[in-house]
Amino acid sequence: MKSTKIMNIAIVGGGASGIFSALRCAEVAKLKDIKADITVFESSKNFLKKVKISGGGRCNVTHHVYEAKKLCNNYPRGEKELLSPFLAFQVIDTIKWFADRGVKLKRENDGRMFPVTDNSRTIIDCFMNEAIKSKIKLLNKKNVKKILITNNNKLSLEINKNEFYEADSVLIATGSKPSGYRLAESIGHTTTEIAPSLFTFNIKDIILDDLQGTSFPHAQLILKIKNSKPFYQEGPLLITHWGLSGPSLLKLSAWAAREMMHANYKAKIFINWLGYDSENKVEKLIYLIKNNNTKSNICNVYPNELTKRFWLQLIIKCKIPKEKNWSELNKEELKKIINNLFNCELTINGKSRFKEEFVECGGINLKEINFKTMESKICPGVFFSGEIMDIDGITGGFNFQNAWTTGWIAGNNMVR
Ligand SMILES: Cc1cc2nc3c(=O)[nH]c(=O)nc-3n(C[C@H](O)[C@H](O)[C@H](O)COP(=O)(O)OP(=O)(O)OC[C@H]3O[C@@H](n4cnc5c(N)ncnc54)[C@H](O)[C@@H]3O)c2cc1C
Repeated sequence: MKSTKIMNIAIVGGGASGIFSALRCAEVAKLKDIKADITVFESSKNFLKKVKISGGGRCNVTHHVYEAKKLCNNYPRGEKELLSPFLAFQVIDTIKWFADRGVKLKRENDGRMFPVTDNSRTIIDCFMNEAIKSKIKLLNKKNVKKILITNNNKLSLEINKNEFYEADSVLIATGSKPSGYRLAESIGHTTTEIAPSLFTFNIKDIILDDLQGTSFPHAQLILKIKNSKPFYQEGPLLITHWGLSGPSLLKLSAWAAREMMHANYKAKIFINWLGYDSENKVEKLIYLIKNNNTKSNICNVYPNELTKRFWLQLIIKCKIPKEKNWSELNKEELKKIINNLFNCELTINGKSRFKEEFVECGGINLKEINFKTMESKICPGVFFSGEIMDIDGITGGFNFQNAWTTGWIAGNNMVR
């Protein structure tokens, strides 16, 4: 005889991971022919707020990396733990999931993937329509304050003031909100140190003056923070109004997120603007220019890869008189040019927020979660997914991929 028992499943947090998980949960319940009442409790007025503003309003859904192990390399925290989840649900599955629901994703040159509409609304509409079809209850303005374990081994949620909801399974997908960490701590979980990740560096230096918008496609960066190992990164670098940004710098901020916070965002960065693999090659280039242009003014002849405006700032930084011809440069001046091209030392004095993507590093201790199911090892019946865990990715769609994958796995296992 078919069971008439209904499973109550509570999802705390109506963000990317919570909603994705609720949809998978409904799908699995249907497949298993289990009656499930799935309710999403969202503390604020709106669901999927971050999806809306993500990727500058375009929603960078995922990144074009098709191998689970390679995908893991993009997570400064969670690299090891995500392998098993990615083997179950990775980028290709994300693309297919959306395609099956009529949302086509496109790949940009740098590997980032967006809906072809270039509008995050497309993703939100897709989720909301699916939630309606799956009869998922979406309740807003429901702040989950406590989780209590009842005598009959159920989980009771305390919502707002004196509202209670009894559940068989609970997913905590509250992102980086402190209230979510408190909720998890109240049932025995611990959290690692929280620090902002994906930020830009504030730098005041003559070499950057009035150069906002200037970019260097192959820059190499070394970040040196007091009492820490150095951090290396290479790739596109961008000068901004306040200092430096661009993919390579944002990656650096993610890998060094905690160390930078401990150092109060004060550090040194060494930049190889051209990305040549040795100082010797830069030296050869500068001497070649010098020997071929002895009579030319130094302001007018410079490496092809650089803009004239950047070159002029570099000359000013080297304190070389602008009137000089190449033949008039002495050894020391040539050395200064080479050094500032290959190993330019700048002082970081703070950080600024990167508007297109932002994430917290730190969260629920990963040792306390079973990554085959996303279930808590401390409190059976409680699951975790998304940014609440001590997992964060570098910029480019990796944070959403974590939200989809871990949400999907939790969704698989909450119905039983
Ligand atoms: C400006 C910005 C742009 C971004 N762009 C990108 C991008 O393009 N690509 C990318 O990969 N990542 C991006 N990210 C990161 C990405 O948005 C997050 O990693 C992702 O949203 C995490 O999903 P989540 O469901 O874990 O948390 P969230 O999306 O933050 O959702 C958590 C939800 O839980 C609710 N909540 C919290 N506490 C409670 C409670 N006690 N009771 C009930 N509800 C609660 C919150 O209100 C929230 O709605 C961006 C982030 C920002 C801030």
